[in-house]
Amino acid sequence: MRVWFSHALVLALAVLTAPAVTRAQAPDTVLVNGKIVTVDERFTIAQAVAIRGGRIVKVGTAAEIEALKGPSTRIIDLAGRTVIPGLIDNHAHWVRAAEHDELRFDGVTSRQQALKMLAERVSKTPAGEWVVVLGGWSEEQFTDEPKGFTLEELDRIAPNNPVVVQAVYSHSYLNTVALVAAKIDAGTGDPQGGRIEKDASGKPTGLVQGAGGVAFVAARVPLQNQEAWLANTRKLVAYLNSMGLTAWLDAGGRGMGAKHYEPYRYLSERGELDIRLFWTTIRQPVTPAQVDTVIGEIRELKPFQGSDYFDNVGWGESVFAPVTTQLLRVASNTRPEDLAQMRRLLVALAERGIYVNSHVEMSAAIDAFLTEYESINKERPIKGLRWSFSHLDQVSEAQLERMKKLGMTAQIHSRPLIQGALMHKVHGEKAWDMPPFRRIHDSGIHWGLGSDATAVTTSNPFYTLSFAVTGRMVGGREVNRQSITREEALIAHTRSNAFFLFQEGNLGSLAPGKYADLLVLDRDYLTVPAGEIKDIKPLITMVGGKIVYDAMPK
Ligand SMILES: [Zn+2]
Repeated sequence: MRVWFSHALVLALAVLTAPAVTRAQAPDTVLVNGKIVTVDERFTIAQAVAIRGGRIVKVGTAAEIEALKGPSTRIIDLAGRTVIPGLIDNHAHWVRAAEHDELRFDGVTSRQQALKMLAERVSKTPAGEWVVVLGGWSEEQFTDEPKGFTLEELDRIAPNNPVVVQAVYSHSYLNTVALVAAKIDAGTGDPQGGRIEKDASGKPTGLVQGAGGVAFVAARVPLQNQEAWLANTRKLVAYLNSMGLTAWLDAGGRGMGAKHYEPYRYLSERGELDIRLFWTTIRQPVTPAQVDTVIGEIRELKPFQGSDYFDNVGWGESVFAPVTTQLLRVASNTRPEDLAQMRRLLVALAERGIYVNSHVEMSAAIDAFLTEYESINKERPIKGLRWSFSHLDQVSEAQLERMKKLGMTAQIHSRPLIQGALMHKVHGEKAWDMPPFRRIHDSGIHWGLGSDATAVTTSNPFYTLSFAVTGRMVGGREVNRQSITREEALIAHTRSNAFFLFQEGNLGSLAPGKYADLLVLDRDYLTVPAGEIKDIKPLITMVGGKIVYDAMPK
């Protein structure tokens, strides 16, 4: 009775006190009757949200939001559903993905299902055109049969299309048509860092091993034309929206240049980009002479000339290629002459005040990098430039303390989702703490959670959240014992990541003044059994107040 009375009173007061001005500024959209997980500093849970001009104007109780409604306000009845801020990935390589119309095995736990997906894709692809899966899965995620694909299987599925199925960055399976198209035959020698498997008669078996082998094969898949890149980009953005992503920081990749960013620039200039892309410039010099050239480029660099949908924010993730570490290799290169080249580049970046994100994983390399950074900070202070390390799979407490003293931040990734079993083979007992989510969180350093998709993990952010909470890879095997709570994981995948985009005033939580980037979920992230977090799906994805994905039951 009292509830009804107060509700009625509020409505009556709203009608009596609403002047013309208020009505003119009524929200475009309200979401009511829900559980709004704001992820603000107090982790406030509200019932309703009001949006106007792409931004949130109010978050509050049902009555508070009802009172703001105007005659043309769109009302979304949440029917008790949960809303969270749009998920932000702090490190992914999706820009490069537009090179091909890739098939993805994200979260697929059955080998039979993967084969079915391949067959379906082939049936829709004209003869002679390539069908490619470029990483994003591993054999260990299949619970029916944890193995790859034979030449015979792929030939049966695809007698007329070249097919490449690449597992992580580890090896690639090709069919006969692909071997012919890629000019791989009995006479082909092994590429550097790779091996072309051959049978007793010397004929290639379809399996190409090693990171060098994977790169050798990928380089033989012809790039699609720029028109196709635009179509691939639109398709990819829709796919990311459907999984709940509203923004990301792109870490570039090998061979990337201006043309890779063109589809995004084109879409953002037309107001047609339904996701926010922030990116760092990547160059991977190998020799001192190449370092000279790149330093010249750094002196001309002007980040932050874009918009809140498309902008360059700095430099990364590989600064000097020879000192780049690998997740599945224990050794790191800490040769002084190579670190000296990295230092030259970093000093040039520090002099320009440019943000730098560096890829580093193994303990010895983290130490060596920190020693350089500390020395650079004495020459040209970097504290205040938000410099970050990405991955940090073996970071120690002492290293985290050194990072904090330099004002550095940490971007941590869910790569064991598909590589966890491989990591245990390579790193043994240590793999249980790679990456050390709990240690990093408890250190108090500013850190965020992301994927490092596409090749080395799945793209789905709910899998990333699930991994941080459960330590389980795709398929269910437990591989990490550094779990954090689901609240900690959600903060790390939203509000904390906004900082890496230089967008903490605009993104990351549901609060007045911030952009209306949000998700309506099909189940409650905070209360579903932990094992179901990975299965959560958005029903609505909204970016800047625009519904970019809609699966809401009508
Ligand atoms: Zn990386």
